[in-house]
Amino acid sequence: MWLLELLAQAVLFLAAISLVFIPLEYFWRADTAETGRIPWLRRGWLNDLLFYFGQILVFNSVTLLALGFLFQQIETSSFLPATIMQLPLPLKIVLVILLSDFLIYWGHRAQHRFGILWRFHRVHHTALHVDYIAAYREHPLDNIYTRGLETLPAVLLGLDLNTIAGFVTFRGLWALFIHSNVNIRLGFLEVLLGSPHLHHWHHDLSRRGLVNYANLSPLMDILFRTYYNPPERPHSYGIPEPVRQAWFWQMLDPLIPNASEDSATRSKK
Ligand SMILES: [Zn+2]
Ligand SMILES: [Zn+2]
Repeated sequence: MWLLELLAQAVLFLAAISLVFIPLEYFWRADTAETGRIPWLRRGWLNDLLFYFGQILVFNSVTLLALGFLFQQIETSSFLPATIMQLPLPLKIVLVILLSDFLIYWGHRAQHRFGILWRFHRVHHTALHVDYIAAYREHPLDNIYTRGLETLPAVLLGLDLNTIAGFVTFRGLWALFIHSNVNIRLGFLEVLLGSPHLHHWHHDLSRRGLVNYANLSPLMDILFRTYYNPPERPHSYGIPEPVRQAWFWQMLDPLIPNASEDSATRSKK
């Protein structure tokens, strides 16, 4: 019974986000969209839908369990000095946003730098079409790594579960926005806030994912000189190496070590 309820919730959530993003991607479609097609009918959409249902129905619970266990160990020990723990809530929230952006930035660079992390993160970069539903194209272990890094500062600073859940939800919705295939530019705000334009360049085939690592705010990219914001849009997405696109193989392939890939680190930035 609970499985049916979960399935109904997943379908309802998909309907809700599609109601927002399909019109956006239709009326503000970016140049690289397949011409003449309704946005969600593009090639590979069914595959991405499997990623969506896999994540919502199965892997989100696995991530919650894994992080719940990990954070329980952290909560019971006191890592930080009392002066930091007693900061007022608004200051703690600012600190959490900055720290999680910092961790996400360097964690993401590591995903592109080290073979063992890239093997799992690569799944996200196999999308040949980047849009709101392609945001769900992730390997579950890559997802645990990212969610862990982004929530670690909030747990360390002792924020309550509701606030942490609020952060995770907001970041999740923001991820849908920056992946959406829309030509909405944020103007001068693009030095403060991430945008679809910036993140689409992270998925660009020729850039190999070595620019615009940040998600919420590009400040870390500006600070560490990986900010890339040309006026034109990317021509094609994906990665140069051959991969098996089907969901089943995308789940399985990263688990099988490939000696040459493991020992080799990706091209240096
Ligand atoms: Zn992405
Ligand atoms: Zn990446």
